[in-house]
Amino acid sequence: MASPAFKITVLGSGTSVGVPTVGCHCAVCNSADPRDKRLRPSILVSYEGRNVLIDAGPDFRTQALRVHLDRLDAVVFTHWHADHIMGLDDVRPYNFRQKGQIPIYASQDTMAVIRRAFLYIFDESKKESNVPQLATHVIDGGGFDLFGLEFKPVPVLHGSATIYGYRFGGAAYLTDHSEIPEASMERLQGLDVLFLDALRYKPHPTHSTVDRSVKTVERLSPRRAFFTHISHDLAHERAESLLPPHVRLAFDGLEIQVEGAAQT
Ligand SMILES: [Zn+2]
Ligand SMILES: [Zn+2]
Ligand SMILES: [Zn+2]
Repeated sequence: MASPAFKITVLGSGTSVGVPTVGCHCAVCNSADPRDKRLRPSILVSYEGRNVLIDAGPDFRTQALRVHLDRLDAVVFTHWHADHIMGLDDVRPYNFRQKGQIPIYASQDTMAVIRRAFLYIFDESKKESNVPQLATHVIDGGGFDLFGLEFKPVPVLHGSATIYGYRFGGAAYLTDHSEIPEASMERLQGLDVLFLDALRYKPHPTHSTVDRSVKTVERLSPRRAFFTHISHDLAHERAESLLPPHVRLAFDGLEIQVEGAAQT
């Protein structure tokens, strides 16, 4: 299937607690570099007048205001952790503006947590005020088309849990992961843009590190790679100076253009 050209906007590049981190006064949390201010992890994929959100974390409202997001066409979830789902209620203004439901896509496990966390949206009770109007789609591992761009789930290990990254056209977004299974590595060949989790330098049981993600980049050789889900252990300028030129740290507000392709 041909894929359209699209733009990726990084809405948040931070780890689950964000940077600055509440109560912390380290050099990065106190940094004057705007690239060291990291909201919870999320990207927006924009093409042909459509906007697809990957993950709706607790900063979603702030992020949407910051990029003047006037339209939202779908939300795709990687997994059920709070830093990836807790902004879902804030899609309501798009329901009003667009006068319709917003489709959301998630694995069975993730959809189950979303249904529990937002019980008032999904239960059968009579609603006394507005709740998000959502059309739920459970992903079974196969790709799905969103407005002419195919999103293919890429299973990754996040500690002991298997969650999804996504490949779409010449790009892939792999947030929270500690390991990428071989079968998934095979689905990540020939990329223009690859996003990878790189929490910090020290090992972590459920997240990748800078060194580990550099090794993934070396194996997959995408044209460009961006690290995300970054903690306050990394100062943007210093961390980037130690990376190869085609590997950069993502930062909030970063925009990346990806060319269309005849075949994906
Ligand atoms: Zn996370
Ligand atoms: Zn700090
Ligand atoms: Zn997580």
